[in-house]
Amino acid sequence: SLLDDECDYLFKTVLIGDSAVGKSNLLSRFARDEFHIDSKPTIGVEFAYRNVKIGDKIAKTQIWDTAGQERFRAITSSYYRGALGAMLIYDITRKGTFENLKKWLHELREYGNRYMVIVLVGNKSDLVNSREVEAEDGRSLAQQEDLCFMETSAKENLNVEDAFVQMITKVFEIA
Ligand code: GDP
Repeated sequence: SLLDDECDYLFKTVLIGDSAVGKSNLLSRFARDEFHIDSKPTIGVEFAYRNVKIGDKIAKTQIWDTAGQERFRAITSSYYRGALGAMLIYDITRKGTFENLKKWLHELREYGNRYMVIVLVGNKSDLVNSREVEAEDGRSLAQQEDLCFMETSAKENLNVEDAFVQMITKVFEIA
């Protein structure tokens, strides 16, 4: 259990973004090194834990996944409560998921901790032929909104570790 584990810090982080951008696959890749071709069948908040070594300390992160609730616009303030980091995810093959980021940022700033670390992630970078959002667009939004930015592929395991570790390290620095 959590309490038996050796860790120096424990904090909550959340994944947000439109339905099917890859939130649960980014989480399963990071937490268990798994990828799933089909969307998850279950509805409801789920989370996973992972330890990350930072210097000589071990940070344990509890990472929350919406598990489909965003489909019903049912994400509540309790989802964000206590979270120090957020990964805001869009799908590079669907422009609409990028356009909705403003809405997500608004919600994050309304419900989230004011010092929350936000990492912007453009997922599905393996699907080069279906790209609808250029990396440059992600980068410039991130610059505008003062966020970190990365493109990832949960499928090919590209940058997934880096994106999470970047978020966790930044939270660690402010915590
Ligand atoms: P969520 O609704 O945001 O949690 O999205 P899911 O993790 O359920 O992913 C939605 C769909 O996109 C699933 O069919 C996944 O297999 C697929 N998917 C997720 N990440 C990637 C990726 O990096 N590349 C590709 N090609 N497909 C992905």
